[in-house]
Amino acid sequence: MTDKILLAGILSESLVNGEGLRFVLFSQICKHNCSGCFNPETHSEAGGEWFDLSEIIKQIKTNPIINGVTFSGGDPFEQADKFAYIAKSIRSKNFTVWCYTGYTYEYIMQNKHIQKGWDDLLNNIDILIDGPFQEEHYNPNLKYRGSSNQRMINVPSSLAQNKMITVEF
Ligand code: SF4
Repeated sequence: MTDKILLAGILSESLVNGEGLRFVLFSQICKHNCSGCFNPETHSEAGGEWFDLSEIIKQIKTNPIINGVTFSGGDPFEQADKFAYIAKSIRSKNFTVWCYTGYTYEYIMQNKHIQKGWDDLLNNIDILIDGPFQEEHYNPNLKYRGSSNQRMINVPSSLAQNKMITVEF
């Protein structure tokens, strides 16, 4: 695995990308092409900027006021091995890890042993917000997601009970 990750951006402190004050990594690369996507500049593999994984992990670990990390995009599952590495490296700090993806939970479960890093990433995140943004289901009143087809999934409970468990905040 290369020691660099391709990102569209970093927010070192955000209140709107999950519960509490969170460090946010916006992954570059997305293949879903959702109509009405808010971040079309994050789709291309030719865009973004390469960052050292070790530098990102250091920034997260040395930030004294955040209580969680969010992987957004783009789609973090296109670089799942890198995000899994970050998630594992910061878990000892008791951060919660949230992850957005345009793939559905069911699709990830079916393909997690085929796609590089998917199983590892799934096993190291707390909340997964899944599915593509669907303009016809857009609802500005939804918390932490854009359209009502997207679900907020408690991943550890879902894996332990072998069924999808959703949560609301
Ligand atoms: S998954 Fe997210 S980043 Fe990708 S096209 Fe859909 S809305 Fe845009």
